[in-house]
Amino acid sequence: MDRRPLTTGVRKLFRGGCVARFAGGWLGSDVTRVVCLLSLLAIAAAFAAEIGPSLEGNLVVASPEPAQDVADTGAFGGCSAQSLRDGEQLPDLPYFYSRIAPGSSYGSTTMIDLLVDAGRHMSWAMPKASPFAVGDISRPAGGPLSGHRSHRGGIDADVGIYKTGGFQARHQFVGVAPSELDIAATWELMRFMLDSGKVEFILLDRAHIATIKAWTLKQGLLSEDDVARIFPIEGSRDSWLRTGIVRHAPHHGDHMHVRVLCGDGTRAGL
Ligand SMILES: [Zn+2]
Repeated sequence: MDRRPLTTGVRKLFRGGCVARFAGGWLGSDVTRVVCLLSLLAIAAAFAAEIGPSLEGNLVVASPEPAQDVADTGAFGGCSAQSLRDGEQLPDLPYFYSRIAPGSSYGSTTMIDLLVDAGRHMSWAMPKASPFAVGDISRPAGGPLSGHRSHRGGIDADVGIYKTGGFQARHQFVGVAPSELDIAATWELMRFMLDSGKVEFILLDRAHIATIKAWTLKQGLLSEDDVARIFPIEGSRDSWLRTGIVRHAPHHGDHMHVRVLCGDGTRAGL
C-alpha cells in the first residue's frame, strides 16, 4: 500500500496552516491557528498509520497519482527494442512471401500482422509480382541477433525489394541496381506498410529513395508535401521525430528494413 499521497497531502496542509501562522504577526489569525492545530493532529495520525500494522487494510488512502500520459512526457514505452515478449513466428505463407530464416522470424503481433497483411495485399494488387522475401526479424525471445545491431525486439524486419518485372528471388535477397528497381511494385509494398499507421520508419539505400521520390511525384501519386513528409531530408531533426517515414541507411540496396511501432502506437523503449 502506498501512503505517500496521504502524508503528502497532510504536509501540504501543515505548510499552508502553520507556515501562514508563523509567517508574520498579521497572519496569525484564529483561522490559521486552527488550521495549524488540525494539520498537526492529522500529520500525527498519518504517522501513526504509517507505523501501525494493525491499521493495515483499514485505511482509506488516496489513490496513487496517475501515471503521466506517455505522449505528454515524450517517453517511449509500449514495447522493448531489446527483447521480445509473447513473440509470434511469421507463419509460412508461400503465396504471400518467402521466409529466408524461419528460426529468426519471430516478431511482435504488430509486425507479424503487418507482414501477413502486406503479403495478402500484394498478392491482390500485383498478382504477377513474386512473393516478397522476408529476412531476419528476431529470435523467439529477441535479444542480440548475429549480423545486426537491431532486430532484438521483434519490431524490425528485413524485406526484399522488387527487380524489374516484379521479381524477387525466393528465400534470399539479391542486389538491385537503381536502374533495375521495379519502382511501382516496391512503392506499392512500401505505401501499403506506411499507410497502415504501424510503421515507425523504413530504411533504404538513398539511390532507391531518390528513384522512388521522383517517380511518385512524376506519376502524381504524391504531392510535394507528401514527399517532404515521407522522405525527410537526410540529417534533418524531423526525421527522428516523425513516424511513417523512409530514411537512407547504407547496405540497404537489396532490401528495406522496416521498424514498426508498439501495439499502443508508441515507439519502442530503447
Ligand atoms: Zn534490418
